[in-house]
Amino acid sequence: MIPKDHPRYRSLVARERIARCAQEGIVALEGLAAHGRGEAFDYLIGERTTESAALAERTAAAMLLAARHAVISVNGNTAALAAAEIAALQQASGADVEVNLFHRTEERIERITRHLTAHGVRVLSGTPERIVPLSHDRGLSLPEGIGDADVVLVPLEDGDRCAALRAMGKAVITIDLNPLSRTARTATLTIVDEVTRALPAITAACTTLEPGEGERLIASLDNTYLLRAAIDEMRERLAHALE
Ligand code: ATP
Repeated sequence: MIPKDHPRYRSLVARERIARCAQEGIVALEGLAAHGRGEAFDYLIGERTTESAALAERTAAAMLLAARHAVISVNGNTAALAAAEIAALQQASGADVEVNLFHRTEERIERITRHLTAHGVRVLSGTPERIVPLSHDRGLSLPEGIGDADVVLVPLEDGDRCAALRAMGKAVITIDLNPLSRTARTATLTIVDEVTRALPAITAACTTLEPGEGERLIASLDNTYLLRAAIDEMRERLAHALE
């Protein structure tokens, strides 16, 4: 049991959760390494939602609500860390949820689907096809899901898949603590924030956008500005780290 007053409580709970889900076959072992990379960047932004990330989260809500067909693509790490948060965002945004894995096996797809369903997520089912032009099974997606989507939210994604989805003409929103990653630089909109903070913030924004605000946010979206703001934030913190 992790004591609630531990200064790193949230981080330790996340580790415990992701380790348990790795044992249950929901998270791939490679996912543990990806989580560690995320943690390091979270340290650098001070483990909180920055002003620019909050702006990105409101813009993400606007994009999901304005989409013809929005799909949230969920992998093992996202399912392990944020199943309930995905359910709430699905409810608020009306987006479909598709399980999509880098290390894809039918068994993991089923385990993750069961885990998400137990937390109240309605998961798309169907027969996957090689829709996204990528080698191996990473290219498999549902024609009625990601195949048909105009806006895809892909938390914790890898750069290749993000680029392939963009090349298909889709708007891609990602949540990635590393503002230097290929995903962060390729996405239409990058939220540099931890996934369990970012998802509830997008959900809250879905219900609080003022009339006309969504259109304004989408029209003024500047991903390079958002990435630069995240990097500046990290640089500032490093510059004053020992004061
Ligand atoms: P790319 O291929 O985009 O250059 P990568 O090889 O680092 O990046 P992955 O290994 O798939 O991509 O890692 C996924 C990304 O998710 C990493 O950049 C990591 O910083 C980020 N990440 C990991 N855990 C979290 C989390 N809990 N919240 C937000 N981002 C996270």
